[in-house]
Amino acid sequence: MNIFDGHNDILNKITNSEKPTNTRAFLSEGRGHLDLPRAIQGGMVGGFFAVYPSNPPSLPSAEDRTFLRADGYEVIMAPALEYAVAHQAALDMITLMEQIEADSSGDLEIIKDSQQLENCLEKKIFAAVLHLEGAEPIQPDLDNLPDFFELGMRSLGITWSRPNAFGHGVPFKFPSSPDTGPGLTDAGKELVKACNELGIMIDLAHLNEKGFWDVAGISSSPLVSSHTAANGLTAKARNLTDDQLKAVAESNGLAGIIFSVNDLDAEIKPKDDAPISTIIDHIIYITELIGVDHVAFGSDFDGTRIPSELGDARGFPKLVTLLDKAGFSDSDQEKICYQNWIRVLKECWTK
Ligand SMILES: [Zn+2]
Repeated sequence: MNIFDGHNDILNKITNSEKPTNTRAFLSEGRGHLDLPRAIQGGMVGGFFAVYPSNPPSLPSAEDRTFLRADGYEVIMAPALEYAVAHQAALDMITLMEQIEADSSGDLEIIKDSQQLENCLEKKIFAAVLHLEGAEPIQPDLDNLPDFFELGMRSLGITWSRPNAFGHGVPFKFPSSPDTGPGLTDAGKELVKACNELGIMIDLAHLNEKGFWDVAGISSSPLVSSHTAANGLTAKARNLTDDQLKAVAESNGLAGIIFSVNDLDAEIKPKDDAPISTIIDHIIYITELIGVDHVAFGSDFDGTRIPSELGDARGFPKLVTLLDKAGFSDSDQEKICYQNWIRVLKECWTK
């Protein structure tokens, strides 16, 4: 089964390693959740690569910022990032992605349009979509947005789980709805329109609920959350409510299901592990609510803790087997595994 995955953090992981320009860490080395050989073994034909400017090293870890309550927990939100720092970090990660492409001997391409995407699928060239996770590297007047488009960025998350000039991220919190703060700023509303015009997919993962509805009111493209889950099943603040999921479906959009053990299971404390069946539970819930055309995978490989049963990117066939056991037809499995992502990308990229 072909797999197209909605989110990974390999670029950030390599960037924060001892050798931040080591392309072999993706092309051959085999640590963490994801590299090209294991992706191909798992059936992956492509996916989104996050350009995620990290929190400053001086910030205490998420674990140290976690406060437990009687009925749940909250991670104290990271502060806003400085533009210059975020901008340089993004350029460095894009350079790393370009170097991975150059060193791949033609096995991987950074995809910039629908035709190139089709061509890669046909020729079995790994299709990498450059995704900016948090718009901090974009100037609030949007002057440099076209530069990022030129560099190949075709997907943009307005916020990570922190505030920025464009909107407000949703905290890591349980139990909670995603309605945790104000909506988009004026700059954020302009960013949505500019992305529509350029043909950049807008990603709503990590954005709070008011921001989500602002995008829904403005955007002419499908509503997409690349790595999330169902709040109705697991009341984590960053999971989508039923009403949000219905809006996703009405826009012909997509929810990519995250593999993070923290987001899948309703537990009072952040979790160490979860069975892979929890991923299928969220897919079933969303399919029953809005249909099979609007759900896909959004692993978050190398950015979170995933079920040990899944292991790494080679675990996708286990999920396909579970989809089969759950009664999804062959054509429904193909939609969930890759066709939904291909459909939505093509629609978002049509100017
Ligand atoms: Zn993320």
